[in-house]
Amino acid sequence: MDQATKLEPVAQPRTIERIVAGVPTSDGAGVKLTRVLTQDLQQRLDPFLMLDNFRSDDPDDYLAGFPDHPHRGFETVTYMIAGRMRHRDSAGHEGLLQNGGVQWMTAGRGVIHSEMPEQEDGVMEGFQLWLNLPARRKMIPAWYRDIPSSDIPGYVTADGVKVRVIAGMSNGVAGAMTREDTEPLYLDIDLPADSLFSTALPAAHNAFVYVYRGELTIGGTLLGESRMAILANTPQADGVLLIASGPAKAILVAGKPLLEPIVQHGPFVMNTKEEIYKALTDLREGHLADAR
Ligand code: FE
Repeated sequence: MDQATKLEPVAQPRTIERIVAGVPTSDGAGVKLTRVLTQDLQQRLDPFLMLDNFRSDDPDDYLAGFPDHPHRGFETVTYMIAGRMRHRDSAGHEGLLQNGGVQWMTAGRGVIHSEMPEQEDGVMEGFQLWLNLPARRKMIPAWYRDIPSSDIPGYVTADGVKVRVIAGMSNGVAGAMTREDTEPLYLDIDLPADSLFSTALPAAHNAFVYVYRGELTIGGTLLGESRMAILANTPQADGVLLIASGPAKAILVAGKPLLEPIVQHGPFVMNTKEEIYKALTDLREGHLADAR
């Protein structure tokens, strides 16, 4: 393993402040999913607004997809671990999101798009994360990037831990995306049995770990499958340490809080109620996605 990436030292790893179980729900035209980061956690996990986890091998759970719907004021990051989803939007963009790929979409002032499964059977599994935009950038033009799996940087540690760096910087490896306002870190971490993994994290950044296979120990507390740990913002803490006794997979997400008011109404996330009314009016009058 002479190509293993050396872990940077973490002197004081974070502890778990709270463990959260996701809420089973459905969205779009009836896609079954687990909402892990719910609206009541938006302040605590600022700049993150939502995390959905979907995983099913039953087409009835996902075939209906997400037909045309609007967004304004934030970014969506869709990570497709398994399966294929076709994306189309009001600006005429189209892309296929599949097996290990990521779509990073900035809704900005507005986009109307659809996200529809392009498979009739098999497993569909992945995550959709909502990342807020600062007030001064909520009305920027919509943008998106499809990042195929092969373009996502990764590394392997001496313990055999495989890390994919979707955003941010981890142990000296730069990820596929950066954002200067929120400095998001988004890692997908595949840990073999009896392994350790650590990565540095600024103490003030809000952070969470979601285990989607197996279980992990963080700060002396066991975190089970399909559970999210909100990590404490202890001032002296300089990173996170994950311990796996059996094989485990998890995502680690962290970012710099915006510390601005958050007003959400469905697919719109703004700073004031007035801005929400404006979004509804713009949608009704057919120019939510104008002014590109
Ligand atoms: Fe959407």
